Amino acid sequence: SKEVRLKARPEGMPKLEDFEVAETEIGAPGDGEVLIRNIWMSVDPYMRGRMYDRESYVPPFQIGAPLEGGAIGQVVASNSDKVAVGDYVQSMLGWREYAVAKGEEVQKVDENAAPIQAYLGTLGMPGMTAYAGLLRVGELKDGETVFVSAASGAVGAVVCQIAKAKGCFVVGTAGSDDKCKWLEETAGIDKAINYKTCGNLTEAVREAAPKGIDVYFENVGGEHLVAALENMRPFGRLAMCGMISQYNDTTPTPGPNNLIYMVGKSLKMQGFIVSNHFDLLPDFIRDMSQWIKEGKIKWEETVEDGIERAPNAFLNLFTGGNFGKMLVKVGPD
Ligand code: NDP
Repeated sequence: SKEVRLKARPEGMPKLEDFEVAETEIGAPGDGEVLIRNIWMSVDPYMRGRMYDRESYVPPFQIGAPLEGGAIGQVVASNSDKVAVGDYVQSMLGWREYAVAKGEEVQKVDENAAPIQAYLGTLGMPGMTAYAGLLRVGELKDGETVFVSAASGAVGAVVCQIAKAKGCFVVGTAGSDDKCKWLEETAGIDKAINYKTCGNLTEAVREAAPKGIDVYFENVGGEHLVAALENMRPFGRLAMCGMISQYNDTTPTPGPNNLIYMVGKSLKMQGFIVSNHFDLLPDFIRDMSQWIKEGKIKWEETVEDGIERAPNAFLNLFTGGNFGKMLVKVGPD
C-alpha cells in the first residue's frame, strides 16, 4: 500500500521534493479496529501550517511520517461493532491508500445523500467552515452586503451561496475569468472580481458594492483585507477564516496599513477555527442537505488521479490550480 510522507519542511512555496511516496505494509486490524480502503482524500490549505515545526491548534506533521488529512473510504475488514464491512466512512487518515483505525475514530457517511466526496467539501469541513464563519462569527443578517475572498474555492463558494440564500448582495473575488463567470452565472453572486486583472482592488470593490460591506469573509489576507477595511460599513463584521496569500511567506508581510478603520467604523473582526464550532454540526447537516436537495448550492471539484499526485494537488492550492474543492482520487469507488 502506498502512502505520502513529509520528506522535508518546505521553505516558502512547497516543492514536490518536500514529499515522498513510499510503500508500506498494512497490518491486519486488531480488536475494535477496522481496515479502510481510501477512495478520496482531501488536500487543504491548513496543512501548510502543520508543515512548520511550531506550536499551533494542531500538532506539526513529523518528517518521515505519513501526512494526515480528511479522507473518505470503504471498510474492507472490521473488528468493531461501530462500523461494518462495506460502510463508507470519513477519517483523518488521508494521504495513504489503506489505513487501520479504531472503530470510534471514523464516522459513517450516507452515500445516498450526496456523492461521497462531498463529505470532504460542501457537506464536510469546508462547508461547515463557511456555515459557522458566516452565520455565527459574521452574524450575517438577511439582506446585508457580503464580500468574500477566494470566493470560488471550497469554503468561499459555500459562503457565497448561503449569503445569496439569505437574500444578501454578494461580491466575491477569484483569480481567473472562468472562476468569475461561474461565480456570477452558476453560484449566482451579484459581482465577481478577478483580483489579478482588476487593477486597484479597493476601487473595484467600491464599484461593485457602492453602499459598502456589512460582512467580510476573509480567506486571503493582504490587499484583500486592505480593500475590505476601506469599504466596510460602520458596525461591520470581519470573519477571519484564513490568509492563504501569506502561508508561504518567509519574511513577515507588511500588515494592512488601514486597520485604524476598526476604530472609526466600530468594526468587529473575529478569528475562528471550525473545530470550535462543531456544536453547529447537526444544524449544518440539516440546512446543507436541504439546500443541496433544493439545488440551491453548486460547487466545483478539481480531481487529481492517484495518490502519487497528492503533492501536486496540494501545491496547486497556492497557485489557484484548483477550481473549487481540491480532491485526490485514491482508489476505485
Ligand atoms: P480553496 O478551495 O479556496 O483553494 C485555495 C484558493 O485560494 C486557490 O484556488 C486560489 O484561488 C486562492 N489563492 C491561493 N493563493 C492565493 C493568493 N496568493 N492570493 C489570492 N488568492 C489565492 O481552499 P479552501 O476553501 O479549503 O480554503 C480557503 C481558506 O479558508 C484558506 O485560507 C484556508 O486556510 C481557510 N480555512 C480555514 C478554516 C478555519 O477553521 N478557520 C477551515 C478551512 C479552511 P484563486 O484562483 O481565486 O486565486
